[in-house]
Amino acid sequence: MNAAQFTIEQLPEFDDHALVSIIANPVSHLTAFIALHRGGLRQPAFGATRIWPYPTNRDALRDALKLSKIMTYKSALAGLHHGGAKAVIMLPQGQYNRSTLLKEYAKHVDYLGGHFITGSDVGISMDDLRLMAHHSKYMIGLTSEPVAFTMDGVFFGIQVCLKEVFGNDDLSSRTFAIQGLGKTGTGLLKHIYKTAKKIYVTDVNSAAIKATKERFPDVEVVPPKQITTLKVDIFSPCALSNVINASTVHHIRTAIVAVSANSQLESDAMGEKLYKQGILYAPDYVINAGGLIAVVDEYEHKGHSADRVNRKIKTIKKTLAAIFEKSKRTHKAPNLVADTLARNIAKKFV
Ligand code: NAD
Repeated sequence: MNAAQFTIEQLPEFDDHALVSIIANPVSHLTAFIALHRGGLRQPAFGATRIWPYPTNRDALRDALKLSKIMTYKSALAGLHHGGAKAVIMLPQGQYNRSTLLKEYAKHVDYLGGHFITGSDVGISMDDLRLMAHHSKYMIGLTSEPVAFTMDGVFFGIQVCLKEVFGNDDLSSRTFAIQGLGKTGTGLLKHIYKTAKKIYVTDVNSAAIKATKERFPDVEVVPPKQITTLKVDIFSPCALSNVINASTVHHIRTAIVAVSANSQLESDAMGEKLYKQGILYAPDYVINAGGLIAVVDEYEHKGHSADRVNRKIKTIKKTLAAIFEKSKRTHKAPNLVADTLARNIAKKFV
């Protein structure tokens, strides 16, 4: 990283983070950033690890800073007591050995001595996670199926959104546009495929599209750029950060934006724009908290209980409904309402 170009505290995503760890190992081609936003001292901070071909180190660091703050907010509104963190690994451009890279990364996680607990995010498979777990005891999500719980929570959240906008949660007359056909995008399809009226999908990876078409033949594939412009009931981002940005926000014509991707809004202002456009936005970190709830349960109880996790996930409905109610009462966009609530709770995280 060219230190002369910027300092971390000048980045807009920096929010007095508790710790930012920069990892660079030329031998294994590992460049990674671990951002620990809040907590981590008395209670470990939680946040999954992402691997992606970021254009620059700066982009990767900015994403880690922003995503870690979102994890703090997610934990706060899910009623958990852990601060948030996130790690991003830069996917190397040239040849590299994935096992060596992940092993090296896992050793750095171990070095943090349990202040940071991590699992699988974009680009990390269960096999990757298992490999890393051989080299660090601070990997989580091997037994608790976080994706399934994330999508259960998301589905509850979608029901709340549908009731809010249409007065009922019947999917048979509802149309969806799904961006990203990885773990969570596929998880959403499992929930809605049989009942939704029409589902448009996209991905930048042709293998993901092929696998989806084989499994869910009735979905209609559209080019990646088109997905934010479709006039459907629900736009469901299940891919990367900042999909709702200054270039896309005016094209979004759906009634609802809801689902799994973290950091969907490029800035708070994008949430306000959606609100002014009459689009109901379900704050990402509220609706997608199921996976975090599951892995924290796995960590705290040394093994998760599906009943316990399901009970906690059901609270997502209440939290989301309360945010929408306050948004209506105060005429504020739901993302701003949620941020204020989360920030107040997160003050207690150490
Ligand atoms: P994944 O890696 O399994 O899938 C992401 C998919 O998005 C990939 O197939 C990728 O090719 C595709 N993609 C990337 N850029 C795209 C673009 N511009 N247009 C279309 N497709 C694109 O990741 P995942 O685990 O499904 O996570 C997706 C999002 O959900 C992330 O923001 C993640 O942080 C969030 N999330 C995941 C979990 C979880 O349990 N995995 C929990 C909560 C939130």
